[in-house]
Amino acid sequence: MTFYGVRGSTPVAGAEYDGFGGHTSSVAIAVGDDLPRLLLDAGTGLLSLTRVFSSTPFRGSILLTHLHWDHVQGLPFFPPADRDDAHVTLMQPAQGDPLEVLSRAMSPPHFPITPDGLRGSWHHRGLEAGEHEIEGFTVTARDVLHKGGRTFGYRVTDPESGGTFAYLPDHCPTRYGPGPDGLGERHEDALALAWGVDVLVHGAPFVVSEIERATAFGHSTAEYAVALAREAKVGRLVLTHHAPFRDDDAIAAIASDHTSTALEVVAAREGTTFTL
Ligand SMILES: [Zn+2]
Ligand SMILES: [Zn+2]
Repeated sequence: MTFYGVRGSTPVAGAEYDGFGGHTSSVAIAVGDDLPRLLLDAGTGLLSLTRVFSSTPFRGSILLTHLHWDHVQGLPFFPPADRDDAHVTLMQPAQGDPLEVLSRAMSPPHFPITPDGLRGSWHHRGLEAGEHEIEGFTVTARDVLHKGGRTFGYRVTDPESGGTFAYLPDHCPTRYGPGPDGLGERHEDALALAWGVDVLVHGAPFVVSEIERATAFGHSTAEYAVALAREAKVGRLVLTHHAPFRDDDAIAAIASDHTSTALEVVAAREGTTFTL
């Protein structure tokens, strides 16, 4: 599992962001030395993933957690998937005709082309919650409350190695209730996705002192991600969807504040690979 975009909301640029990176949500999953066939989210991080493919087309599936800009804006800037020999299945949480829904944000006058203007063979699928076999992985999709549109969290298992991780970049647990400590409910869907995974990847654009803003914007705090990891018996937590206003030092401080002997907490960084 390699991170290509770890920023939430909008891409950022500048020396103060170089350490963790400024691209928005994008994670690639590959088996061994193979090219990735499964991508989670299609933020601007897809621009960096292009290097990995050199002259090879992308043939695989892209799973979107939801359709906010920071999770789809890399789609038309990923040349391996915009060529005649590309084969792409793009899946999003089911909510009407998937191509029509995606086209609302990607069509004139907002953008020069619609998604079907990309070259290659593209299949648009609305995914229902539940368990799916995708590109050789077992993928569990569960609805999580966020803000503005249906949103999934995913749990991905490699049946060969047994390696498993959960990915919940955009999740607002306080919308389920305050939970035992005011950080938000450790609700059934979040626990089911995260339970016992090798790595829990969770959004942490806010910290507890900002919890009112986190709730207003439909997000979670780093403290909630830590609490969920503990309850779900996870040993390694990767914080992602970093706030665009947080520089490298601030992101590193959040991760180091929460790491302990029982739980390793790291901040997702562009280019970092986790082998499961
Ligand atoms: Zn987002
Ligand atoms: Zn979002």
